[in-house]
Amino acid sequence: MSYCGVGCSFKAEMRGEEVVRMVPYKDGKANRGHSCVKGRFAWGYATHKERILNPMVRDKITDPWRETTWEEAIGRVASEFKRIQYQYGREAVGGITSSRCTNEETFLVQKLIRAGFGVNNVDTCARVCHSPTGYGLKTAFGTSAGTQDFDSVEQADVMMVIGANPTDGHPVFASRMKKRLRQGAKLIVVDPRRIDMVRTPHIAAAHHLPLLPGTNVAVLTALAHVIVTEGLVNETFVRERCEMDDFMEWAAFVAEPRHSPEATEQYTGVPAAELRAAARLYATGGNAAIYYGLGVTEHSQGSTTVMAIANLAMATGNLGRPGVGVNPLRGQNNVQGACDMGSFPHELSGYRHVSDDATRTMFETLWGAKISPEPGLRIPNMLDAAVEGTFKAIYIQGEDILSRRWNASSCTTCSSTRRPTTRMCSCRVRHSWKRTARSPTPSGASSSSAV
Ligand code: SF4
Repeated sequence: MSYCGVGCSFKAEMRGEEVVRMVPYKDGKANRGHSCVKGRFAWGYATHKERILNPMVRDKITDPWRETTWEEAIGRVASEFKRIQYQYGREAVGGITSSRCTNEETFLVQKLIRAGFGVNNVDTCARVCHSPTGYGLKTAFGTSAGTQDFDSVEQADVMMVIGANPTDGHPVFASRMKKRLRQGAKLIVVDPRRIDMVRTPHIAAAHHLPLLPGTNVAVLTALAHVIVTEGLVNETFVRERCEMDDFMEWAAFVAEPRHSPEATEQYTGVPAAELRAAARLYATGGNAAIYYGLGVTEHSQGSTTVMAIANLAMATGNLGRPGVGVNPLRGQNNVQGACDMGSFPHELSGYRHVSDDATRTMFETLWGAKISPEPGLRIPNMLDAAVEGTFKAIYIQGEDILSRRWNASSCTTCSSTRRPTTRMCSCRVRHSWKRTARSPTPSGASSSSAV
C-alpha cells in the first residue's frame, strides 16, 4: 500500500478473482496490523472501470489509444527508443523511476536506462523531496539512511517533530506516536502551524516552537546553543563516537552569544524560555527521537537543517539504540529504496558516483555495457530539453509527472497549452492538466501524498 510514506502491508481477501476486503497485515513492519481509512477502504481502483488492463499504443498523440499485445507493445517501445537514439542522438532519451516501486523494480529501471539506453538520464522524485536528507545524513553519519525503523518509536521518551504533520501525512505512524505519548512520552513540535499533535484528545505537546518560516537552522542552532552552554552534551558519547576536532569547532560555533535563544528570538519568533525548556527536555528526557518531514527538506537550507538535526542527536548521544535517532518521514513508501538503488543521474546503486572509475568498471563488467562517466539529466532538465527539442523519449515507471512537476503545463492528449477553466481540457480529456496543489504549506511541507 503506498498512498503515503508509511507503506502499510495488507492481506487482500479474495472471492475467486475478486477483492472483497483489505485486511491490515499483522506482520507488516510499518503498520503492525493497523491501517488508516485509505488503505482499509480505498481499494476500488483494483476493479475500477477506467483501470487499464492491457498495453495500449497509438501512432500519434491525436490518435485514440489502441489495445494490443505485450509482445507488440514491448517490441514497439524498444524499436522506437532505438530509432529515436539513432535519429536524435543517444542523449535524446531517458527515464524516471518511482519511490512507490520495490527496490528490485527501481534497480531494473535504472539498469535499463544506463545499460540498455547507454545514458545516465535517470531520475526519481525521491531526489527532489529528500535530497537534503541524503546529503545531510551522509555528510554527518556517512550514510544517508534514517537511523531507525518505525518500531523504535515505542521506546522513545521524547519525540521532537520538525516540519511534519504526521496525523495528516503518515496517519498510521502518527497513531503509533500517539500511543507512545499516551504512555507518558513527551512531545516537542517545531512548526509554524499548530498541527493536530500540538493538542488533540488525550495528548498535548510539552512544547510547541512556532518558528517563522525559513528559520529552521536558526532554531536548531539555538537548541544546540542551550545544550552546549548549559553542559547538557553527552560527553562520553561524543568522545567515543564523534570526530573530536569537528565537535569542538561545532560547539564553539553554536555557543556564540549570537546563537542564543534570546538573540535569535527576534528572527525566529520562538520565545526564548520555551526554546530553552525544549532543549533541556530533548537532552535530558531519556531516549529522544527527532522526526522531520518536508518542512525541513523542501526549504533552500534543507541540507544544513538535516545536518543540524544530526548534530543535535550526536551531541546528546541520541543515536545507536531503539527509541532515539534521526528519522526522516518520507513522502512515499520506498523513497529510501529509490535512492539506494541508483535512481539518481549522478549515482549508481549504493550512492557510488558515475565518475568513479572503479565503480563503473565493476558495473560494466557485470552488465556487459559501457556506462557514461558524466551525470545525466535530472527530471526538470529532461523537460527543459524536451521543450528545446533535444530530448525526445522518456520511459516512466510509477510516476505521474504531469500532476507532480511544475513545468508540465500542456494537455497530455492534444498538447494544448491553453489554460482550462475546468479540470477538463477542451479536447474533453479529464485530469490531463498539471495541478498546482503542490504549493508548500506555511512550513514548506507538502500534502500527504507528495514527495
Ligand atoms: S497510513 Fe498510508 S500506507 Fe498506511 S493505509 Fe494509510 S495511506 Fe496507506
